[in-house]
Amino acid sequence: MPLRLHNTLSGQIELLEPRNGQPLRIYACGPTVYDYGHIGNFRTFVHVDILRRFLRQQGVPLRHVMNITDVDDKIIRNATAAGVTIHDYTPKYERAFLEDLKALNIEQPEFLARATEHIPEMVTLIEQLVARGAAYRGEDGSYYFRIASFPGYGKLSKKDLGGMEDGARVDVDEYDKDSARDFALWKSAKPGEFYWESRIGAGRPGWHIECSAMAMKYLGESFDLHIGGEDLMFPHHENEIAQSESATGKTFARHWMHVRFLLVEGKKMSKSLGNFFTLRDLLLRGYKASTIRFLLTSVPYRNPLNFTFDGLTESTHAVERLRSFVERLDKGDFPAGITPTLAAATEKALADFTAAMEDDLNTAQARAAIFELVRAANIAADHNELRSGDVPPILNVLTRFDEIFCVLEDHDEEAARFALEWATQEGRLDAAATEALAAYTLSDAEIDDRIAERNAARKARNFARSDEIRDELAAKGILIEDGKDGARWRRK
Ligand code: AMP
Ligand code: ZN
Repeated sequence: MPLRLHNTLSGQIELLEPRNGQPLRIYACGPTVYDYGHIGNFRTFVHVDILRRFLRQQGVPLRHVMNITDVDDKIIRNATAAGVTIHDYTPKYERAFLEDLKALNIEQPEFLARATEHIPEMVTLIEQLVARGAAYRGEDGSYYFRIASFPGYGKLSKKDLGGMEDGARVDVDEYDKDSARDFALWKSAKPGEFYWESRIGAGRPGWHIECSAMAMKYLGESFDLHIGGEDLMFPHHENEIAQSESATGKTFARHWMHVRFLLVEGKKMSKSLGNFFTLRDLLLRGYKASTIRFLLTSVPYRNPLNFTFDGLTESTHAVERLRSFVERLDKGDFPAGITPTLAAATEKALADFTAAMEDDLNTAQARAAIFELVRAANIAADHNELRSGDVPPILNVLTRFDEIFCVLEDHDEEAARFALEWATQEGRLDAAATEALAAYTLSDAEIDDRIAERNAARKARNFARSDEIRDELAAKGILIEDGKDGARWRRK
């Protein structure tokens, strides 16, 4: 069965399918690279990733584009404050964004498109709009979109734009959420600001035109799905529709998906409210990358998710429960045969999991189906009712789950080590981070060496030395368990 996904444009749940045997064409608004992203931003990107991975699992080929907004008001403001050009300012944050994607196991799309590399496409689009009477030049050489020329304005956000005033204009990229104004397509060069020379004069593009130009360049005038966080619905996406459809006379994106906010005490997590955590903030407090990814999927994308540290702790336990279950199955020695009730539970879990994902990406129910199977199988194992023939189908369900949720395979150490290196380089390694990540200051090989040294001490009955090494490692959060087949260690 194909995916049924809510479409903001129609307000209905609709099938999402590619057309005419083509790959499914997706445009997702990407980051503005003016600073480190916060985990609210990553809630949106994780859900885009969940969608991507689910579609691929269903055998749907994808052509997915994400923009990097590397010129906008905030970038210009920050670059000016730092005394550098935008080209010297943004690469660091673009790199950081890609590193964060990697830490969170978020795949890169087929195309990453930088705004500053698509200025000619934007200029051409503005010229088309002028030719069609949908855009005009202001006295200072800036260009504006004429909202009154597009009767469909407001069809996505369904806002009552009663206060709309013909000719009222706005220059800033992000503006008032309740009024429709003619918005800037091209801002004429201002003294001291970065600009491009072009056929329509010296200046720089507005934010909205970037996405229209890049989406149509890579996906064509009409495509399947456009995605962003809920705050982009108005005015950004409304403006994208107005620009694109005015230029082509065709439907821009057929399907629109909006991810609801990550909240903190009922308010949007955002830079401007100061109530945010970056991924790196949390890694430096010792939270694992898998924990953060899993937390961000705990509530389906169409409901807001409230961020709490209790939520992070719960998520840590949930991932641990799944991982130790897989380990139990991998390492256990179970009697031959199968247990029919467990076989049925396994089949049901896979069916429920898939049905939940097909039902508007209901990640909460999909996860519940998996935890139900884990509970049933753990109980069976406790009662010696888990048979070796039950194991492969159960592991298969977990593999299907993890192809999408990506938390079982353990990349946490890599992410923690990365955060540690980054914080050291940037001079951000405070006492709390040093303590939280102490276990990662030693590599696996270094720990193995210490363990070997301790084993030798024990063999020589030098228990004082052996205890000393144990305590030294414990102080770094590395715990040793002595078992019958030697000592094993793990990071706390
Ligand atoms: P930006 O870098 O500000 O352009 O945002 C990148 C993406 O993150 C956009 O799709 C935003 O809609 C989304 N976003 C921003 N804040 C939040 C939040 N608190 N929760 C979920 N998504 C968000
Ligand atoms: Zn966009």
